[in-house]
Amino acid sequence: MSVGALIDLTRCIGCRSCQVACKSWNDNPGEHTSFWGTYDNPPTLTPTTWSLIKFAEVEVKGAVRLVMSKIQCMHCLNPACIAVCPEQVYQKEENGIVTLEGDKCIGCQNCMKVCPFSVPHINWVDNPDLAFVNVEPQMTKCIFCFDRVSNGMEPACIKACPTDALVFGDRDELLVEARRRMAKFPGKYVDHIYGEKEVGGTAWMYLSPVPFEALGFASLPNEPIDVSQYKPSYLYPGIEKEREPVSPVNIGVTSGLLGLLAGAASIIALRQLRMKKTDVEVPEE
Ligand code: SF4
Ligand code: SF4
Ligand code: SF4
Repeated sequence: MSVGALIDLTRCIGCRSCQVACKSWNDNPGEHTSFWGTYDNPPTLTPTTWSLIKFAEVEVKGAVRLVMSKIQCMHCLNPACIAVCPEQVYQKEENGIVTLEGDKCIGCQNCMKVCPFSVPHINWVDNPDLAFVNVEPQMTKCIFCFDRVSNGMEPACIKACPTDALVFGDRDELLVEARRRMAKFPGKYVDHIYGEKEVGGTAWMYLSPVPFEALGFASLPNEPIDVSQYKPSYLYPGIEKEREPVSPVNIGVTSGLLGLLAGAASIIALRQLRMKKTDVEVPEE
């Protein structure tokens, strides 16, 4: 069985109980935010906000209507993040959930570049033992409460929703339920189950009273993301910038080489540190 979640946006009242429950269950702290002209708080997903309520003002039949939507990792059936990660940080579990071992991340950001929903975020954690950069990357995102689901519980966000806007279950059965609602209440929903087919299908799916484009949802093809032409990067992005051509040329080359050396040294140091952390035995020569 592949698990899934159905989000019925006609039932969401924007209370953010789901957002708070996610932080609470996953021990993610609150964070400073900024006002940028919407009720979204914080403005985007962050390393410590894995679930976020977005607010959209949409004109419906001449009146302005506030429509709220919850965003988080979509747990793609064909996850692009897994396909491009050189360190196997991500895994697809038997029940379809995409979990991750965030502290295996080397900070290359390949997953962030290919994720069609802009989900993964890096938490840069201070580490004075690490040469050159003194911070180490930990990749973060919603894990569909794999710990709870594996023990027969609903995800924390879904458990906390007071209006049943969120439903957890078998993905195939949720699709049947979504179609049942659309047939029973004609005109209540647009004729589109977002996530049924996008990028090959996702575990999280949505019903909406207005076109998804009006809510800022990405218009995506039905085919999985093609990563065959993607060239993964193995260096920290800050160091990649050093490699871009600058004038005079010799300064660019020199800084590029230094950047490469620093990047390689950082990754070697990070790997050594991780080996120590996980008590991997290194055979003596
Ligand atoms: S939404 Fe992004 S991070 Fe989540 S499974 Fe899909 S590609 Fe991976
Ligand atoms: S499934 Fe769990 S980790 Fe994902 S958004 Fe909900 S509470 Fe957060
Ligand atoms: S808990 Fe339910 S009603 Fe409240 S914001 Fe989240 S999805 Fe909407």
